[in-house]
Amino acid sequence: MRRELPPTAGLPLRFSDLLPGRAPFAERMAAWLGIDEVQLECSGTAAMVVALQAMHRLRPDRHEVVVPAWTCPLVALAIHRAGLTLRLCDLAPNHFDMDAAQLAAVCGSNTLAIVPTHMAGRVADVQQALQIARTCGAYVLEDAAQALGAQQDGRSVGLLGDAGFFSLAVGKGLTLYEGGVLITRDASLREAFAKSRNDVIHPDLRMGLQRALELIGYAVAYRPSLLSWAYGAPLRKALAKGDPVAAVGDDFGPDIPLHPLGRWRQTVGARAMTRLPNFIDTTRQQATRRVEQLRHLPGVTVFDDAIGTRGVWPFLLLTLPTEAIRDAALQTLWTSGLGVSRLFIHALPDYGYLRGMLPTADLPNARDFAARSLTITNSPWLRDEEFAQIFAALGRALTS
Ligand SMILES: *Cc1c(COP(=O)(O)O)cnc(C)c1O
Repeated sequence: MRRELPPTAGLPLRFSDLLPGRAPFAERMAAWLGIDEVQLECSGTAAMVVALQAMHRLRPDRHEVVVPAWTCPLVALAIHRAGLTLRLCDLAPNHFDMDAAQLAAVCGSNTLAIVPTHMAGRVADVQQALQIARTCGAYVLEDAAQALGAQQDGRSVGLLGDAGFFSLAVGKGLTLYEGGVLITRDASLREAFAKSRNDVIHPDLRMGLQRALELIGYAVAYRPSLLSWAYGAPLRKALAKGDPVAAVGDDFGPDIPLHPLGRWRQTVGARAMTRLPNFIDTTRQQATRRVEQLRHLPGVTVFDDAIGTRGVWPFLLLTLPTEAIRDAALQTLWTSGLGVSRLFIHALPDYGYLRGMLPTADLPNARDFAARSLTITNSPWLRDEEFAQIFAALGRALTS
């Protein structure tokens, strides 16, 4: 089978992680994040539903949630599932952060929460969201789905805002196939989250079993020799059909599973977690070298750590000068097996299946970011000579 790299740097599981037994995942996670307690959920999306419903119960007169217009479509589905209204904020030009002026304009007395989003392991501008939230009385819920392990001023992301959540889905660093971690420093919110969980989350034996089997499948297939079968072949098939949304796995249905994170998967997580700090360091070193190299490409923006922040590196996020150049680069790279891909294909209103759930809006920067961005895996499996191939292909696209 051909060698195939994953689009993100997931922590590989070991056979010994999967053995029966008990190990304390929530406690280890809390200790590592530097917080008293975490609330485990079955996905980042579920964590978001639980958090938003709790916030809404505390401030029932507010029902709008403000999110960046270029983000994971599951965020829109979570807001919808929580019975709330989504408000879009365009991005800042050539950046994944929300535009400050537009954020201030969109927020008001109906705003329940603002959701700054730590994209690609980079730390978002939470301070900006906090300032605006404080003037309008909204919560700040940090979407740190892609940023477990990222820090700002020496503390985990998710702790500067009122609450935050991480994803343990496939492709997000530490994975339990699906999983979520909800955190807050605020005692009253913590209590509200636990209450909301009692209302929203229900046991589901079938889903529990399904996820356990999926995790075993992942542990087996997550290696360059088998990923062509598990990841590359479906990707190439979707692209051949002209369906990039399916190719990157953005084609979500409206059903959001809301069940507990099973005990055995927690144990797997607790064991794998012991290797996570090392993995984050290794991948950071690799990323630092490669980001430096990519900077030499004219007209390319490579997203790096802002001052005072130390992100994590599941993949490198780039924008190219134009959509045509980005597409020229992807023409060869996307199907090459080298772990080059795109993050979110569209700005949120441009996903067909979200229509009706979202306002249509003028979102030039979000659409521009979707059109000019691509990602390069930061898996330790991507060899220097393979990275050099990617670098050369980007260079060719830029000069053609
Ligand atoms: C993946 C992701 C989510 C949802 O997390 P799941 O664990 O997949 O439900 C939310 N926001 C962003 C930015 C994501 O990348």
